[in-house]
Amino acid sequence: MSTFFFLLHQALRGPLTHPFPFIHMPDHLREALWAVKEGRADICGPLPTPDGLWGQLVYDRQKCRGCRACLSRCGAEAISESDEKGKIEIDLACCCLCGACVEACGHSALSMGDSFLNATADRTELLLTDSGSVQMTDEADLWSGEKGR
Ligand code: SF4
Ligand code: SF4
Repeated sequence: MSTFFFLLHQALRGPLTHPFPFIHMPDHLREALWAVKEGRADICGPLPTPDGLWGQLVYDRQKCRGCRACLSRCGAEAISESDEKGKIEIDLACCCLCGACVEACGHSALSMGDSFLNATADRTELLLTDSGSVQMTDEADLWSGEKGR
């Protein structure tokens, strides 16, 4: 069957999409949501993340010296120069959390954070320009080479 007829067959067979969440939701999940709505159950908050998790990148703008070492190390091209001279910005939508820029930064301006819930409806929220002042952990120091120098 040609691709055209295959797609036509699928389109005519339907449904083109599945309404979500209720119509096609598994019964046990539907029951769980009703239980929450009626106060018979609670949805637990996020579980604590393990130490050393490589979560969303953290950028301490104050510590950044604009050396550009991180730019050349990022194979995902997630880092670019900011409008402000000597600073960078990071497109978290492109970042694959490899940690190479953290290793390259000799000023402890970059570290791996513990946030892993990065989904958003507004893509501009994924443009990281400053995470504020960051207390470096021992592990982050090791990453940036500050220890043992
Ligand atoms: S963690 Fe890796 S992919 Fe993300 S900005 Fe740094 S070098 Fe690029
Ligand atoms: S390597 Fe560090 S100091 Fe240099 S531009 Fe990147 S974040 Fe700033």
